[in-house]
Amino acid sequence: MTTETFNFQAEVQQVLKLVIHSLYSNKDIFLRELVSNASDACDKLRFEALQDASLYGDEPGLKIELVADKAARTLSIHDSGIGMSRHELIENLGTVARSGTRKFLDAMAEDKRGDAQLIGQFGVGFYSAFIVADKVSVTSRRAGSDEAWSWHCTGGGNEFTVESAPEATPRGTTVTLHLREDESEYLEDWRLRELVHRYSEHIDFPIRMHAAASDEDKGKDEAPTFETINQASALWTRSRSEITDADYQTFYQHVSHDFGEALSWTHNRVEGNQNFVSLLYVPAKPPFDMLQGGREDRHGLKLYIKRVFIMDAAEQMLPNYLRFVRGVVDSDDLPLNVSRELLQSSRQVERIRGALTKRVLDLLERIASEDNEKYGIFWQAFGNVLKEGVVEDHSNRERILKLLRFPSTLSKTADERVSLDAYIARMKPEQKAIYYITADGWNAARHSPQIEALNKRGIEVLLMHERVDEWMAGYLHEYDGKPLRNAAKGDLGEDLADASDSESNQHRDAEAAPLIERLKALYGDKVKDVKSSRRLVDSPACLVAGEHDMAPHMQRLLAAAGHAMPQSAPSLEINPEHPLLKRFAAESDATAADDLGWLLLEQAQLTSGAALDDAAGFVARVNRLLAIPEA
Ligand code: ADP
Repeated sequence: MTTETFNFQAEVQQVLKLVIHSLYSNKDIFLRELVSNASDACDKLRFEALQDASLYGDEPGLKIELVADKAARTLSIHDSGIGMSRHELIENLGTVARSGTRKFLDAMAEDKRGDAQLIGQFGVGFYSAFIVADKVSVTSRRAGSDEAWSWHCTGGGNEFTVESAPEATPRGTTVTLHLREDESEYLEDWRLRELVHRYSEHIDFPIRMHAAASDEDKGKDEAPTFETINQASALWTRSRSEITDADYQTFYQHVSHDFGEALSWTHNRVEGNQNFVSLLYVPAKPPFDMLQGGREDRHGLKLYIKRVFIMDAAEQMLPNYLRFVRGVVDSDDLPLNVSRELLQSSRQVERIRGALTKRVLDLLERIASEDNEKYGIFWQAFGNVLKEGVVEDHSNRERILKLLRFPSTLSKTADERVSLDAYIARMKPEQKAIYYITADGWNAARHSPQIEALNKRGIEVLLMHERVDEWMAGYLHEYDGKPLRNAAKGDLGEDLADASDSESNQHRDAEAAPLIERLKALYGDKVKDVKSSRRLVDSPACLVAGEHDMAPHMQRLLAAAGHAMPQSAPSLEINPEHPLLKRFAAESDATAADDLGWLLLEQAQLTSGAALDDAAGFVARVNRLLAIPEA
């Protein structure tokens, strides 16, 4: 018999090291991961056998068996699932890192704490075996094949070996863990049962262990009998009244590979034109790639058809802005031989997708109305993802708008948020619009000079300080009959033009006219216009973008990301009452006047989150002005 040796791919080696070192405090999860792989393998066989029943051979049963051998210090996890060919053993267990691996390693590198939560959500899979074992063997026979193969690896090494296995090897896969010295607890019957109940209770296949031997049988040499130790039925097919919260949480951990608990869930059976059951969870924490717009194919929404697992199909079954949802959908009507392509174009799937979207929105509305604190947790984790729905989903736009939360100028912290409804409820009686400001960060937003006059009048302003906000806000025009107005764009109009002071304003504008002309001449085409402001109270000047222009901080971010941006010059609004403008008007020294003039614009650029063209020039100007001796 020849034994071949292979090297683990470098990325796989890195994952192995990470898993062993960062998961030690969560080592129990190795069993969940291996049982989960075994269950996936049974799912795959059941699926392939739809086309070719002969794959079952003479063993139709699908099962998972745990056997602990105290003398040999081994724990084996056997499944009668699809199995792996020689080629698959080599590819799947060592040489080809799967697509998300690089992203995962990058995310882990960013997260210096080695956060076990991150790893858990990635799904550590097979390699978690090495948390508790120093040597792992896998013997497998693929369904329908005569050949069986063994794979061996000692945890420390960077290599593994593959050789052929005895012909009598049963269909499926047996993973044998040679437990480390101090891991004897995983040889204990009660401990294994406890873990199966905790993590794998609702797997759709029987998990079996040796039945406890009765006193009579003890000492006899008979082969022990197996008993099923989990419920082994698809949880979602049972009625809600039979399922406890703890059951739902156990199942959540199984579908999501999350260590933590789900925040909430919705379990529904739809009967009529379409018959399907859905069990959808909202997690409490985001997985590592959520906000990068990434979307792991796996661990999202599992599509079953008539109880048979078909594929992970989150992308087809849920809109992108609900990509945080985990769970299962089980349809009675879709054809079992459905392909990914077919799912994409199926009217039936479109209807299910619409129904699932409504379910999730119902659930979020329910949380929001019943439990503010819980909704806060949701919002913290996924609010920025949900905001994409404002742009993406026209048909549910009103409902999504209702779910939005933002801190406002009345909030004490960035986490104290208000809904649009609550904002409207406390609007000033004469106030016409809902005001917001976008900025790169909470402090930048709440200190924006553009909102000074609104603040002074006690008009609340929503502080949209997340990156997605500027983009989303471009699609926010109206809510509940009230226009939404960006306080840093265009003319603030109605709410600041007070009839009683319009005369004094006109007078002020007339006085400021020569000042404005001088500034315009100084700036040239750097600004679109210079105006006397209605917005400012304490600050000397601020930038105001055109109604349809992008905010300066976004222009900067996009330019930094390499997007060629059409540069739309903003207008500068000045506060002629401010001492700085008075000083500019009175300054007789030409250099000092120019310095002051440029500083005015540069300050306004800085507070808007724009970058300065000439930071060194700015510093030189500040220094010249600071060094002017007191008159
Ligand atoms: P994941 O399960 O997240 O894909 P793993 O590291 O757990 O990652 O497993 C890698 C691959 O090895 C699986 O995708 C699967 O193809 C294969 N595999 C693992 N365990 C089994 C098993 N018990 N039976 C069949 N194939 C398996």
